[in-house]
Amino acid sequence: MISQIKRKTLLYKSGVEYADFCINHVEGCAHGCTFPCYAMMMKIRCGVIKNYKEWLRPKIVANALELLNKEIPRYKHKIKFVHLCFSTDPFMYKYPEVADLTLKIIERLNRDNIHCVVLTKGIYPKVLVNTEKYGENNEYGITIVSLDERFKKRFEPYSAPYKDRIKSLEYLHEKGLKTWVSMEPYPTPNLVKQDLRKILKEVSFVDKIIFGKLNYNVESTQSGYNGEFYQVCTNIVIEFCRKNDIEYHIKYGTQKKDNRKTEKIFVKNIPENLNLKYTKQPALSL
Ligand code: SF4
Repeated sequence: MISQIKRKTLLYKSGVEYADFCINHVEGCAHGCTFPCYAMMMKIRCGVIKNYKEWLRPKIVANALELLNKEIPRYKHKIKFVHLCFSTDPFMYKYPEVADLTLKIIERLNRDNIHCVVLTKGIYPKVLVNTEKYGENNEYGITIVSLDERFKKRFEPYSAPYKDRIKSLEYLHEKGLKTWVSMEPYPTPNLVKQDLRKILKEVSFVDKIIFGKLNYNVESTQSGYNGEFYQVCTNIVIEFCRKNDIEYHIKYGTQKKDNRKTEKIFVKNIPENLNLKYTKQPALSL
């Protein structure tokens, strides 16, 4: 059984440029990315965990729903949307306890008309198409930076296979839900030789794409690929998105000149009269 911890707070205002409020209802992440994972580096630096091995053993926040019941009334008027998650994965591959808690959190937020922007390297459960229970305005995303499973094995060793990830997202898209892709951190050619256009083609059904460079990777920084390489990639992404009517945001520092107009990519599409279409349900008993 998965370990549990208790926290004092849950909702917080994120510093990520395209985000708003955020929730991380799990400590650690079994996907074990070796890009490296910025969240893991921070937790080690702050003394929350000791090492990579400990990071790989996730602990769920057992009082997450209890905290949400207290915090939603406090922050509701300030929240534009809630992002799940930046410091863990909400649909951690082969961790049904994490997925169960995430579904309850999405349902709880949606019940208060708070829309969720979700990002995973796992597989989306099909139940999300039940828009009576989960809102129809949530935005479901996956991270895809390659299609090469050998690269995945090295840099995202325990996450879901790329093809399965894309398939589960496409299913949500086919059922009429909003979908997006995070292509970040996009690797330099010394880490993997690949055609960015081929990856874009595989996810051409999505509504939004966020593209960003790889940071904190010594091999990549020393490769000398950074500046010019990422400008070429950015041009390819923008051209592709414009051609396919996909909204995009290029993370700051990726291209030579940042475009700040696109950072509200998840805010501007929230309908004025948000109607998430829920059946009224009793409050969760905790
Ligand atoms: S999926 Fe995200 S949180 Fe989990 S190890 Fe990878 S980068 Fe870190």
